Amino acid sequence: MSNVLIVADHDGETLNPCTAKAVACAKTVPDSVIDVVLFVDARKGLADEASEIDGVRKVLVVSHAGFEHPLAAAIAPQIVAMAAEYTHVLGSSTTFGKDLMPRVAALLGVYQVSDVMGVEGSHSFRRPIYAGNAITTVNVPDSDIVVATVRAASFRAAGSGGSAPIEVAEVVSEPPGHTRFISLQSSSSDRPDLQSASKVVAGGRGVGSREDFEVIYAFADELGAGVGASRAAVDAEYAPNDMQVGQTGKIIAPELYFAFGIYGAIQHVTGIKDADTIVAVNKDPDAPIFEIADIGLVGDIFEVIPALSAALGKSD
Ligand code: FAD
Repeated sequence: MSNVLIVADHDGETLNPCTAKAVACAKTVPDSVIDVVLFVDARKGLADEASEIDGVRKVLVVSHAGFEHPLAAAIAPQIVAMAAEYTHVLGSSTTFGKDLMPRVAALLGVYQVSDVMGVEGSHSFRRPIYAGNAITTVNVPDSDIVVATVRAASFRAAGSGGSAPIEVAEVVSEPPGHTRFISLQSSSSDRPDLQSASKVVAGGRGVGSREDFEVIYAFADELGAGVGASRAAVDAEYAPNDMQVGQTGKIIAPELYFAFGIYGAIQHVTGIKDADTIVAVNKDPDAPIFEIADIGLVGDIFEVIPALSAALGKSD
């Protein structure tokens, strides 16, 4: 039997959907029994949310004032203390998971498997390499505990409707004083979060300027979509860094992705290849984005976007 512990990813208020995706991944591990652990400063409603994820046996809540902010240095020793009861410890391939899980693996003296996109056996996993252009199979020694991050874009979230019991777990050691939370600087936006939005509108260098990027924001708002950007658009300061989609940005899997003025470099495409429907608009008919687009329009974005808006207005 595989005992899987999933470290929940949350912002203190709500559970990140990638936790339910990690559960979906864990369900494909042969003979798995799945627990979710939450590190919180107070219980709030988060544990209830986790207990409703289909397939979870129990939810463990570890509360301490030191967990108000998700610091890997504070959380990793707690997970290591719990790990004796588990064959697998999974986190998400988010900033939180990518910070935490290597530390957990190092403390346990095992390798970390990054970006799991498929499970072939209890200790055998598929993951992307070369910017997603090849898939490799990684085997963990049978005697090792598996420590891995799960690529959220590769899994549909486990459903809700569960009612797993919630248990309070002990804090095994005081969070260390050498690493402290100072402050969080992030861009706040009323738009849907890029990584969990079902629709994303993205602009590339073809948008031409920061001012013209307003066209992308406006169209996204009409659709209720999140906003993304290519690295070239970010480097040119048309859009902020946290909007970058791709190999060195965010890997996303929305139902609908609009690529406006984006060439389709492999480093960008690796971030969107799990999207359900890709719509590309580019004035160059030979742009590689058309090779992966489900719907391609050769044209100038400054003509196509107003036409799309007008058509959307008519369909109201
Ligand atoms: P361009 O290549 O300049 O393409 C602009 C496109 O807009 C062109 O196809 C042009 O025909 C079209 N266009 C111009 N004007 C219009 C118009 N008015 N209407 C319609 N179409 C128009 N890139 C990422 O995006 N994400 C990453 O995470 C990333 N990581 C990288 C990591 C590494 C290690 C490296 C080496 C590169 C990485 N890149 C990444 C960069 C990537 O290789 C490309 O340079 C980048 O994606 C290009 O962005 P772009 O398509 O917006 O720009």
